[in-house]
Amino acid sequence: MNFEHVLVVGAGQMGAGIAQTVAASGRRVSLHDPYPGAVERGLAAMRKSLTRLDADVDATLARIEPVDDLVEADLLIEAITEEPLAKEDLFRRADETLPAPAILASNTSSIPITSLAAVTRRPEHVIGMHFFNPVPVLKLVEVIRAVQTSDETAAAIVQLARDLGKEPAEANDFPGFVSNRILMPFINEAAYALMEGVAEPEAIDTIARLGFAHPMGPLALADLIGLDTCVAIMDVLHRGLGNPKYAPCPLLRQYVQAGRLGRKSGRGFYAYG
Ligand code: NAD
Repeated sequence: MNFEHVLVVGAGQMGAGIAQTVAASGRRVSLHDPYPGAVERGLAAMRKSLTRLDADVDATLARIEPVDDLVEADLLIEAITEEPLAKEDLFRRADETLPAPAILASNTSSIPITSLAAVTRRPEHVIGMHFFNPVPVLKLVEVIRAVQTSDETAAAIVQLARDLGKEPAEANDFPGFVSNRILMPFINEAAYALMEGVAEPEAIDTIARLGFAHPMGPLALADLIGLDTCVAIMDVLHRGLGNPKYAPCPLLRQYVQAGRLGRKSGRGFYAYG
């Protein structure tokens, strides 16, 4: 399967990055986001990113067509807001619109792929295709098999990830998959270290950067991801695995209650100008 035509739904930071990456591979992309101005903002972000990457800006953007609704395509990659009911509704509608052999993929960080597969009549063609931010730069694609996903679907998506210049890693559909099951407890423990007065934020992040050779410390990374998103994913891990070690750190919850969501609100563990 070559996936000549891909429908990307959601034109936010991830959807725009995915559309750009797919178009840069020579494929045709239809991009849908019903919120006013979202597609335009996505296209502007792509133009900036392609320019920075010294890529062929106009040729890549010419392969991306904004569309007002879902359209037929060989593959859906969904990157809408992380809300289970909204994603289930989208998968139901995509199941009605896309031809039967098409694959329906989700970029969700934590929603069970098995539950998205279950609302369609083609559960064997549903899969998780989890890209990392910024999508055009980071190489990893975590490929998540629902309980119902067929071997053919998984193999086709693994091959597509390679064709996009990415490195696929396969995981099964357990809460947080692999990436967030490891990353979020790391961030959570850093929040505990801060809450318990073990060290200041700068020291915690310096230790991770220089001691573990991470490009960013866990608190700066949490600010980038969004503290609300971090709490939401910890809640999924906690509920889904039933182990108290996954409960979100009270300091994270408190910051979210105070509207300190990280970079997007101007303040999280750090203040942004
Ligand atoms: P975002 O808020 O930047 O973008 C979401 C977009 O979805 C918005 O443009 C919004 O208008 C659109 N949208 C909302 N509801 C919609 C609907 N019903 N139909 C079509 N479009 C709709 O969010 P994001 O950071 O791009 O995250 C998108 C998805 O990617 C989420 O599932 C998130 O968990 C996942 N993800 C995010 C990251 C990250 O670092 N931000 C990394 C990996 C995966």
